Amino acid sequence: KKIVIAIDGHSSTGKSTVAKRLAEYLQFVYIDSGAMYRAVTFFAIQSHCFKNDKLNNTALLEKLHDIDIDFQFNNKTQKSRILLNGKNVEDNIRGMSVSERVSQIATIPEVRKKLVTLQRDMAHKHNIVMDGRDIGSVVFPEADIKFFMTASAEGRAKRRFEELQQKGETTSFNEVFENIQNRDQIDTTRKHSPLIKAENAIVIDNTNLSEDEQFKIMLKTVSD
Ligand code: C5P
Repeated sequence: KKIVIAIDGHSSTGKSTVAKRLAEYLQFVYIDSGAMYRAVTFFAIQSHCFKNDKLNNTALLEKLHDIDIDFQFNNKTQKSRILLNGKNVEDNIRGMSVSERVSQIATIPEVRKKLVTLQRDMAHKHNIVMDGRDIGSVVFPEADIKFFMTASAEGRAKRRFEELQQKGETTSFNEVFENIQNRDQIDTTRKHSPLIKAENAIVIDNTNLSEDEQFKIMLKTVSD
């Protein structure tokens, strides 16, 4: 049986950074489930399912079977790239236009069902570290280890804003801060698989933790 480590938590808590590091250390495969919701969102934008920022649900549902999402693993670098219908969309899914719409897409039960099936399939083939919102609660309730990460909204927005600035994206701190609060709100209150801490998850509040301190705590849990 393959090993599953689930890392859930609020937006921009640095889940992916520690998840990648942990996966690399353990020689597991890292899977970014948020990237899958982002790829569907990018598809919805590209295929004109948004009109004046309003999502046409029916149009998206009709096209859902045209969406093929996969990861390409590079065994040498241990890095994975997300493929949407065979194309690497890694650089298309991190900007504000996708961030502003992704949580709405993630409320759609049919979208979740499709992606959860894919996520479970991946754990048949590899030992995995997967991060997201519902990994320990819904996708893998039997996960071997579960972490739940959180931090203050200001701290998260500050980190995210600096990251986006470095990438040359034109945005303001307030825009990023609002986006994070918005996503928290939608993610925690949606009907289908809301963001909640799984009962047996280990909580890590990293507001005042360095990346190294955080990683040490996680490694200790894993090796215990
Ligand atoms: O992790 P990331 O911030 O990239 O995720 C983008 C969005 O995708 C989240 O705000 C959430 O709405 C949605 N998501 C989800 N379930 C997951 C992963 C992400 O609903 N397992």
